[in-house]
Amino acid sequence: MRDKIDISSNDNALFVTSQCNNRCVMCCQPPLQRNDLDGYFRRNMELIDSAPPELPSLGITGGEPTLLGDRLFDMIRHIKTKLPNTEIHLLTNGRAFADKTHARKLAACGVEKMLLGIPLHADNAADHDAITQVRGSFNETMLGLYNLGRYDVGIELRVVLTRMNYRRLPKLPNFIYRNLPFVEFISLMGLEYTGYTIKNSDAVWIDPLDYRAELMQAVTELHDWRMDVSVFNLPRCVLPESLWPFARKSISDWKTKYLDICSDCMEQMECCGLFATSRVQSRGVKPIIK
Ligand code: SF4
Repeated sequence: MRDKIDISSNDNALFVTSQCNNRCVMCCQPPLQRNDLDGYFRRNMELIDSAPPELPSLGITGGEPTLLGDRLFDMIRHIKTKLPNTEIHLLTNGRAFADKTHARKLAACGVEKMLLGIPLHADNAADHDAITQVRGSFNETMLGLYNLGRYDVGIELRVVLTRMNYRRLPKLPNFIYRNLPFVEFISLMGLEYTGYTIKNSDAVWIDPLDYRAELMQAVTELHDWRMDVSVFNLPRCVLPESLWPFARKSISDWKTKYLDICSDCMEQMECCGLFATSRVQSRGVKPIIK
């Protein structure tokens, strides 16, 4: 967690809690059972007060921020009062919004300049719940998505690509198009090799080179259906060139690294680079030279 807002950074976020009600097998920041909600709440309200009014965007993250309960809405209202031009990006597993009242309260804070990043790990409950390690989490997240959609809250679906979900990736576009056509963005995300991924490496880690076909099919199909799809956290050298237009510089600046060999790469300026925090990188990382 940063202890101050840095307007030159691409990653200003309010850390709400280390606690979470999911136990995702590839979590990059494993949850802690700590009674930290009050302390972080006070600190975050001060950070909002100290933020420059021209701050372009501000994340809200954890852990699971909705564990803060109604004080999350106090915090969002405070941001909207102090920083009316700042985009809010709330990262949540969405389960709390299965309660329609919760979704209504969030929407009442004002849906403009607010986007919720919500992970959907698969197109079916069994696979999603195996990843979150919480039975019923898929149904709650889906209900949450519908309730948020009902109140016009902006949604970015986030799919972290792992050995546990890559095979069904080609089925995801059809599922999203038919069931969640109201989402604004879909982000397909490379895995950071840290946290629980180290512990569960055999089950979750897959070299991005080994799911290129499935990724290409999913991105192409989503794009063909005019959905706004992006690829996050995967360097250009591990992607087929046809996916480069979808690849974003998505890794937080303080977590990004380039290797010495990257200085020979024609695409370095456009490339997201690599997670400095990852213990393992793809075997496909090599300079692009044409
Ligand atoms: S060699 Fe480095 S800069 Fe080039 S695409 Fe790969 S990671 Fe990016």
